[in-house]
Amino acid sequence: MIFSLKNQVALVTGASSGLGYACAEALAKEGACVVINYHSQAEPAEELAEKIRADGGRAIAVKGDVSKEADVENLFDQTIREFGRLDILVANSGLQKDAPSIEMTLEDWNTVLDVNLTGQFLCARAALRQFKRQEHRQDISKAVGKIIHMSSVHQLIPWAGHVNYAASKGGVDMLMKSLAQEVGEERIRVNAVAPGAIATAINEESTQGEAGKALLKLIPYGRIGAAEDVANAVVWLASDLSDYVHGTTLFIDGGMSLYPGFRDNG
Ligand code: NAD
Repeated sequence: MIFSLKNQVALVTGASSGLGYACAEALAKEGACVVINYHSQAEPAEELAEKIRADGGRAIAVKGDVSKEADVENLFDQTIREFGRLDILVANSGLQKDAPSIEMTLEDWNTVLDVNLTGQFLCARAALRQFKRQEHRQDISKAVGKIIHMSSVHQLIPWAGHVNYAASKGGVDMLMKSLAQEVGEERIRVNAVAPGAIATAINEESTQGEAGKALLKLIPYGRIGAAEDVANAVVWLASDLSDYVHGTTLFIDGGMSLYPGFRDNG
């Protein structure tokens, strides 16, 4: 059993920052050729691609909005043009537009659903089409292809003031499971990771200072997560070491989903 992702091609969406950046970097370290999708921040995406190339790997940065069908088609076209195939999709892009429900605009509802759920569908569909089109290289992976969705503990834990975000991640859960049920026979593996509180740009306000200390009450393991905690799990899910893992969400949350409020409620 090998851990290496050598000669495999991985596409990571929203990889100019945070978890996507860490996943792209970690996949490249294991030998994968990496496509770094970015939405608006070209500089960090290009810098990461350059860093990977300087370390002897292969990487390109490609602009694209995952909620736009034409952008997603272009993203996958550029991947195939550069590397000739696709083995791993990490559908990571996501955002928050928070507001109490009675104040939430339809625009903010739609934007979050468009990026967090429709974007994951469009990328997964494009990946499946490519997996079916290409030759299965058993010398590089037991599976024909692997899709890893970026979910959240909020696919499970309700979140007042964030109904669009929680609904999008609940949708990702059923998207992932239904896809897994649909394509498993074709040796395509579909899974998700559900991070808890990981310090990145999306949650800077809640993970730093006093807010960060208060957040620890929700984390039995007693620390806020780092992007690498998620990236390590994604690398494992992308590798043959997890070959029999299919249709599962791996919670990477220091126990946040264990209802920690019940600890002191005996
Ligand atoms: P982040 O803001 O650093 O990353 C989000 C990325 O998505 C950014 O690079 C952004 O440019 C990209 N993006 C936004 N809209 C896009 C679009 N239309 N098309 C393409 N890319 C787009 O935050 P992050 O924490 O790294 O979040 C990454 C993923 O992890 C998200 O799906 C988020 O919901 C999920 N997540 C994060 C945490 C956490 O604690 N940080 C917890 C649970 C889930």
